[in-house]
Amino acid sequence: MTKICEYFQNNNETQFSIEILPPVKGQSINDLYEKISPLMEHKPKFVDVTYHREEYVYKECKGGLLDKKVIRKRPGTVGICAAIMNKFQVETVPHIICGGFSKEETENALIDLNFLGINNVLALRGDAIKSEQRFHPHPEGHAYALDLVEQVSDLNKGKYLDENLKGSPTNFCIGIAGYPEKHFEAPNMQSDIYYLKKKIEAGASYIITQMFFDNKKYFDFVAKCRDEGITVPIIPGLKPLTSLKQLITLPSFFYIDIPEDLHREAMSCKNPDEVKEVGIKWCIQQSKELKEANVPCLHYYSMGRSTYISKVAQEIF
Ligand code: FAD
Repeated sequence: MTKICEYFQNNNETQFSIEILPPVKGQSINDLYEKISPLMEHKPKFVDVTYHREEYVYKECKGGLLDKKVIRKRPGTVGICAAIMNKFQVETVPHIICGGFSKEETENALIDLNFLGINNVLALRGDAIKSEQRFHPHPEGHAYALDLVEQVSDLNKGKYLDENLKGSPTNFCIGIAGYPEKHFEAPNMQSDIYYLKKKIEAGASYIITQMFFDNKKYFDFVAKCRDEGITVPIIPGLKPLTSLKQLITLPSFFYIDIPEDLHREAMSCKNPDEVKEVGIKWCIQQSKELKEANVPCLHYYSMGRSTYISKVAQEIF
């Protein structure tokens, strides 16, 4: 199967790609197929599938004590990647994260992917567990995405955790995340880009950005990365605003700004449908400008809903 980075090397046209979420536990894969089928008409070059780590829930048990349970709401990232690849003949990119994984478990997960013919991964640190304030690495795992990129790169050289094992090399193309508005924990943009570059030096071949609603932030970010000697493709991540609630939730979850004009337009809408129209129109404008600037790919975050992305894609691809 094709490595994602090859699409950007061999093609001057702006490509289309999407990110989807695994369905909530208990839902059928057919529901997911139905949701993403309309997007497949626009021939995405690849489909990213997010990874959702464990959560803690507390249930009251006898005597009023709280019982801590570990649950996983959206399992199945690897299975969904394999299923979508077979059904739609499209490249899939599972997200792999540091959080909750020992190095050994990561190695085994990578071996599974390799056996399935999935040669692309997006390597991420992952966020803190929902009920915790800070990210805590697994005691035998990685603290930063950089260490995860190094592990995948090692495996690409046939270097497994067991030093006595002479294994066959894998062939993963590694993507990483970048933040046009800075990662929320980084003390400044310079420091964030410093570690971004380290991940490239460790073997990552392209960057996908956090969503943004102001293209200037993306263009400035790319310019800063280029100044620091980062030469790999930097793929803009986009999402249409689809509700008034998102004016608050998107900045608080993703540490991004909503431009004043978009905020004003959305607030002046008379009903939820009008808000969706405004959000989709804004996203179309962003996409057109980015395409004109010849970005390698436009990557859309579905966040579980694909209808709105379909509307944008119809205008752009
Ligand atoms: P890192 O690269 O490890 O960076 C984290 C912070 O540490 C940054 O502030 C960085 O500047 C700093 N830093 C990096 N390396 C070092 C170092 N060696 N020493 C000191 N400081 C360092 N989360 C999920 O749980 N599942 C997903 O599927 C998922 N998909 C995502 C897809 C995209 C495109 C993006 C942009 C984010 C995604 N996330 C996902 C969220 C992501 O996991 C979080 O933003 C997380 O907080 C940081 O991940 P990272 O890979 O950028 O971390």
